[in-house]
Amino acid sequence: MKPDAQKTWVYDFKMMNQITSDLSQEFTTLPFNDIELLHATLALSRIEQRATATLIAHLEEIDQRKAYALLSYPSLFEYVRKELGYAESSAYERIAAMRLVRQNEKAKAMIESGDLTLTGATQMQRFIKEEKSAGNAMNQEQQNELLTAIAGKSKRETERFLMAQATNPETPRLKESTRVATATHTEVKIFLDEGGMNLLNRARELVRADSTAALFTEALQLLIEKKERGLGKVETKTAAPEVDLKIPQSQIPPLAQKSRPAGKTPSVSRFIPLHFKRQIYARSQGQCEYISPATNSRCPSRAHLHVDHIRPLALGGRTELNNLRHLCQGHNLKASLDAGLLFANKTRSSRAR
Ligand SMILES: [Zn+2]
Repeated sequence: MKPDAQKTWVYDFKMMNQITSDLSQEFTTLPFNDIELLHATLALSRIEQRATATLIAHLEEIDQRKAYALLSYPSLFEYVRKELGYAESSAYERIAAMRLVRQNEKAKAMIESGDLTLTGATQMQRFIKEEKSAGNAMNQEQQNELLTAIAGKSKRETERFLMAQATNPETPRLKESTRVATATHTEVKIFLDEGGMNLLNRARELVRADSTAALFTEALQLLIEKKERGLGKVETKTAAPEVDLKIPQSQIPPLAQKSRPAGKTPSVSRFIPLHFKRQIYARSQGQCEYISPATNSRCPSRAHLHVDHIRPLALGGRTELNNLRHLCQGHNLKASLDAGLLFANKTRSSRAR
């Protein structure tokens, strides 16, 4: 890991060195003879497997607590990629493995022992998801059977094996993807069904575009304009409070305190007037307004923005401009978790152990 001046506050490098010192002292010099070299290398690979399994368990905890949000990352994926420095595909695999391990104990043990690679775990996780959307939610036993079957198989063998088990073998072949094509262009692969093709053909008749890419670009621009206008639209049907409910900015905590609302929520409307939404949008410029208290950096996310009550309504917050902000989904969740309005261990307790 590169020590970054911006983030040294978070990481106590003395503590980090303590954690890693056993390993580094043990293996600083290469063994003198071949037998020792082979032993040491096997030991290191076992350590790596165990470290990977432990890393995945830690990622799971980070995900439960949305701890990545503290450093302004909008998602666990962004955290793993940018903070931990993994390549996109490696980050994807670790998170897929985390999701698999979350629902399957056997997978956890197999990763730990090296019987299941991260690639295998990713394939398995994708398969379970695809089966679920095909109407076949697999139980532990069915999952365990497949896990036993793919142990030790190569990526291609696993792919072939899982495809043969699929309820709907078409789905994996329709997987969307993006790939760098040239220095300036990205290849985007999508699949349209008959309805989608009809729309595309109709659009081609109506719009003069040089290429399908130009047509898509224009369509996306229109869609984004429409959505951004929509950010200024009314959310709910209840009426706005007419009274001025101003509280000084200094009384608004950055994230609400960790107490659960007792009894009924106060009768303050969630209604956010159009002119508020416009002003929030003008201020945020369509970007999450979360600023990390740690690094002072602002969350870069522009996706799925919610208007958030800085001090929640349930805790006496009001619907007024200085108590409202744009947050991405990740930071909105984190704020709710910290306010005690959501519980991190909710999914944990219902999970099979
Ligand atoms: Zn955010």
